[in-house]
Amino acid sequence: MKIYIKASVATFLSIVLLTGCSSTVTVSNDVANNEKDTVKTVKNSVYNDKNPPLEDNGENNAVKNENDKDENKDEHSETDIKKIKPNEAGQVMVLMYHSLGDKEKDYVRTVENFKEDLRLLYQKGYRLISLRDYINNEIDVEAGKTPVVLTVDDGNQSDFNIIQDNGKKKVDPNSIVGILEDFNKKYPDFGLEATFFINGGSNVFGQKDLIEYKLNYIIDNGMDIGNHSYGHENLGQKSEIEIQRTLAKNVEFIKKYLPDYEVNILSLPFGARPKNSEKRKYLYKGSYEGIRYNNIGALAVGWRPEYSAVHKEFDPLYIHRVHGSSAKFGIRYWLEYFDRHTDKRYISDGDKDIVTIPEKMMDKIDKNKLGSKKLRTYKLDEE
Ligand SMILES: [Zn+2]
Repeated sequence: MKIYIKASVATFLSIVLLTGCSSTVTVSNDVANNEKDTVKTVKNSVYNDKNPPLEDNGENNAVKNENDKDENKDEHSETDIKKIKPNEAGQVMVLMYHSLGDKEKDYVRTVENFKEDLRLLYQKGYRLISLRDYINNEIDVEAGKTPVVLTVDDGNQSDFNIIQDNGKKKVDPNSIVGILEDFNKKYPDFGLEATFFINGGSNVFGQKDLIEYKLNYIIDNGMDIGNHSYGHENLGQKSEIEIQRTLAKNVEFIKKYLPDYEVNILSLPFGARPKNSEKRKYLYKGSYEGIRYNNIGALAVGWRPEYSAVHKEFDPLYIHRVHGSSAKFGIRYWLEYFDRHTDKRYISDGDKDIVTIPEKMMDKIDKNKLGSKKLRTYKLDEE
């Protein structure tokens, strides 16, 4: 049984304040300020055919442009920009799930709540993108929409379960993969993207004889597999050799089934990493017995949304995540937060080659992170 480190937000805030880490002050201050706000109870309805999540409830100006977009969208006119208010320096939620179950717990989401999370995300104008595209700043979502990343750790059977249907393999419609697929069939523009972080040393997705089938299924359907170490070790307490051994062994395990697949994103077990910076380097690059790895990103555990990849404070090697659970600062908290603070949220301009931001965000951009993309700024009416 895995034991997880539970850090309270209070502890998180005090660490942030003590270290004076400017990267998190903006967000954490917001958290502190909003802690007193009454968080409205989110209606707990489940999406189904009778209750499609299509209507925008009108609370969110950021996502209301679906019907008024320009037919000739070669270029956005000045008015479009003002209407959409793109902010590609805004924040992105990288959601973290572990398993589905009958009862809501810290690392367990109920099937109903998971479906409701998807319904709310869709209704509020979020669209799935891959973790890889987020890290590489290759975000391709419709103008006015907000990208969101979905990650699933530990390879529990409830994440991807196969059932038999008249002698044929069928994805369990109540497992994460099945629910995502069903939702994507109903709402194709939501996307089908998720990264599953597995431990080769555990019973990956529960059904031992189906490992090969499942790993291939994930990749063939455009989703991703990531490294979560071979034995779910606390990497904060391991030697350089041990770190390299467990990460390389897991790459070797995955490549046994997916020889051409590049495993290059790490989810830190327990969110832990070595304090020593020399040791820490081995999280990102290393080798063991000839197996090499080179991670373009590493994920922490909780507790807040992350910056856009062009933001000065974005660190791909320590990406914060939002709990897909009923934790106090979990997904529902942040969904409401971004309803109230649309200016904090990443809003796409719909053009993957241009990074559009309000002029007042200029000082937040690291121009070196733009790569070949053009930067476009605009003035908000209130500026
Ligand atoms: Zn884990």
